[in-house]
Formats: sequence, structure tokens, C-alpha cells
Amino acid sequence: HHIVEVTDLTHTYPDGTMAVRGISFRIHHGESVAVVGANGAGKSTLLLHLNGYLTPQHGSVRIGDFPLTKATVQDIRKTVGMIFQDPDDQLFMPTVYDDVAFGPLNLGLPPEEVEIRVQDALVRTAVAHLRERPPYKLSGGEKRAVAIATVLAMTPDILVMDEPSSNLDPRARRTLIELLAGFHHTKIIATHDLDMVLDLCERTIVIHEGTIMADGPTLDIFNDM
Ligand code: ADP
Ligand code: ADP
Repeated sequence: HHIVEVTDLTHTYPDGTMAVRGISFRIHHGESVAVVGANGAGKSTLLLHLNGYLTPQHGSVRIGDFPLTKATVQDIRKTVGMIFQDPDDQLFMPTVYDDVAFGPLNLGLPPEEVEIRVQDALVRTAVAHLRERPPYKLSGGEKRAVAIATVLAMTPDILVMDEPSSNLDPRARRTLIELLAGFHHTKIIATHDLDMVLDLCERTIVIHEGTIMADGPTLDIFNDM
């Protein structure tokens, strides 16, 4: 059973740029998949279709049992956690607690449940000690962890990440890789970070000019390059 199915997806921006050109792939529950390719290859555009930020102009995206076009934004947020390239796009509240509680509060969950989810997400991302801090004062690695916590608090099945280790120093990168290795979610990670690909992703999809150039076991892909 596939938790993600992308079929013949195409996306052209209003200025005529064909960012994604007929991409198809399926992902199993629990798989960790790297999406690699040069800047401008179409990785971000593809990822933005996996949680409904972009709607297919042509082709389709199915997550779990439903096509994304039939899902509400809340259904999508509960299933797909999207971690953007810049954590500052994701953190906007006065404290870490408020940012992580934002999603569960929006679901209308009772306060006790919100508290449990926030604490659980902060513990899982190893930033519980930062709970009352303003996010803008945190380090890059701490911000990244809090951004992941905001998504975990929605208890998604799938984590979609766009360059999660960009702008992190080597130590913060290592911490992040170890953190993600401990999660059992299905993971889709666009990255230029070879350690992240080799340590986390058993499968790699190579994108070039909006199409899939290669898709297979990570070790095979990198042996062939
Ligand atoms: P990647 O994530 O692999 O760097 P993107 O999906 O960001 O690739 O970009 C794919 C192509 O689409 C590039 O040519 C990029 O310049 C273009 N592009 C991205 N976003 C927009 C946009 N909002 N409007 C027009 N073109 C865009
Ligand atoms: P279950 O925990 O029974 O698998 P959930 O819907 O709670 O079902 O979890 C879906 C996914 O999220 C699973 O892959 C699980 O590993 C992960 N997960 C569950 N609880 C949490 C949590 N509190 N924080 C982060 N991830 C979680």
C-alpha cells in the first residue's frame, strides 16, 4: 500500500517556467526518500504539491486514501507535516510554546490534549528547555528543531522537508540527522546534504529540469554517478 502517489504531475508558473514536467512516483508507508537535483530542478515545486500549497494543474497527488484536491487544509496538516527551508517562515509567535501549540489549538483540541502534544513534540525534538523562549532569539539548529516540533504536534504520518540542514553548522547538522533518524514517519527530504541522504534515505529520486532522471536505492544511485 502506498501512502503517497504522484501521477504525471506538471506545474508551470504564471511566467511560463515549466518547473515540474510529468513526474510520477509512489512511496510506501515508512519509506525515507531523498529528492536531489541542482538548484532550479523543481524540488521545491514538487514538495509544495505534497501538502496542498500548490494544486496540480495537470496530473494528481494522492496521500493516504484521498486525493489532495478532496482534502481540507486541516486534513492535510494532520497527515503531512511540511518543514520549510527557512524556519523563520514557520515561527511567528512570541514563544516556542505558542508556536507549537498553534496547530493543535486550531484543531480545537482541549487544553490538556494541546499541552500533552506540545510537551511531547518538544521532548522528541530535544528543545523542551526552550519552551518559554522567543523563537527569533534561537540558534539556527534550535529554530529548525522547533519548526519540526510545530509539525509533530499535528501527529502527521508523513514529514516533507525542504533542505532541512541548510544554514546549519556541522554539529547542528549531525544533531538534526540523528533526530530525524529516530522518527518512524514516512520522510521525503529535498536536500544537497550527502550525509543526510546516505544516513537517512534508503531511496533517492534525482530531479533534473522538472523530470525524474533516476529513482532507486540510494547506494545504487550514488554508485552510478
Ligand atoms: P529547486 O527547489 O529544485 O531549486 P524550484 O522548484 O524552486 O527548484 O524551481 C524550479 C523552477 O521554477 C526554477 O526555474 C525556478 O526559477 C522556477 N520558479 C520557482 N518558483 C517560481 C515562481 N514563484 N515563479 C516563477 N518561477 C518559479
Ligand atoms: P501511531 O502513534 O499509532 O502510529 P499516530 O497517528 O499518533 O499513530 O502517529 C502517526 C505517525 O506519527 C507515526 O509514524 C508515529 O511514529 C508518529 N508519531 C506518533 N505520535 C507522535 C508524536 N507525539 N510526536 C511525533 N510523532 C509522533
